[in-house]
Amino acid sequence: MNKQFIIQCINNVVEEIRYHEDQIESLDRAIGDGDHYINLKRGCEAIQAIIPTFEKLSTPQIFYSIGVKLLSTIGGASGPLFASFFIEFSKNIASSKNELTNVLLGFEAGVEAIKKRGKSGSGEKTMLDVLIPVLNIFKKKIGNSNLDEIIHAINEAANDGVEATKTMLPTKGRAVGLGDRAIGHIDPGAKSCQLIIATIGKKILEEKK
Ligand code: ADP
Ligand code: MG
Repeated sequence: MNKQFIIQCINNVVEEIRYHEDQIESLDRAIGDGDHYINLKRGCEAIQAIIPTFEKLSTPQIFYSIGVKLLSTIGGASGPLFASFFIEFSKNIASSKNELTNVLLGFEAGVEAIKKRGKSGSGEKTMLDVLIPVLNIFKKKIGNSNLDEIIHAINEAANDGVEATKTMLPTKGRAVGLGDRAIGHIDPGAKSCQLIIATIGKKILEEKK
C-alpha cells in the first residue's frame, strides 16, 4: 500500500467527516452525549498532525502509530475502540503477498479487537452493526468478485447496517440508559464507520482507474 494513497485516504476521510458534522453531532445528541463528532474531529486532526512522520515508517508502522495516537487523543468510548482497530489492523496488514487479502486480514483483526475491547457483538446498536456485516460480505466476495463488485457490496452492507441500528435496542454504550427511547434513532458510531468505509472505497476505485 503506497504512502501517498494512505495520506490521501486520511485527508478524504477528514473532509467527509467535516462535511457530515451536523448529522453526526445530532445523532449522538439524540442517543448519546453529543460528542461523537468532536471525538472524531480530534482523532482526525491528531492523525493529520503525524503525517510528516510517515516518511520514515513502514506501512504496518504507519497504522500502528495511528492507533497509538488515537488512544492518547480521542476520549469517550469510541477512542479506545478505533485505536485498538488500527493497532490490530497494523499487525496483519503485511501477512500475505496480495494487497486486498492483507486489507481483509487487517480489517478482520481490527473488528475482533473492537469486539474484545467493547465486550460487544452484533445487534447491540453500535459501530459493530456496520463493521461486522462489512467484514462478512468482504470475506464472502473476495474470492469470486472483482474490486468494483466487492466495494459495491461493502457499501450496500454498510448502508444496511446503519439503517438496521434504527430498530435495535441499545445494549452497549451510552444509549443503553435510554432503553426503548433509543429506538427509531441511528447509532452515531455506525454512521461514522459507514462514512469512513465509503470514502476509502471510493478512493480505492479512483486509484484503480
Ligand atoms: P461516548 O459514547 O463515550 O460519548 P462517542 O460518542 O465518541 O463516545 O462514540 C459513541 C459510539 O461508540 C456509539 O455510537 C457506538 O457506535 C460506539 N460504542 C460505544 N460503546 C461500544 C461498545 N461497547 N462496542 C462497540 N461500539 C461501541
Ligand atoms: Mg458520545
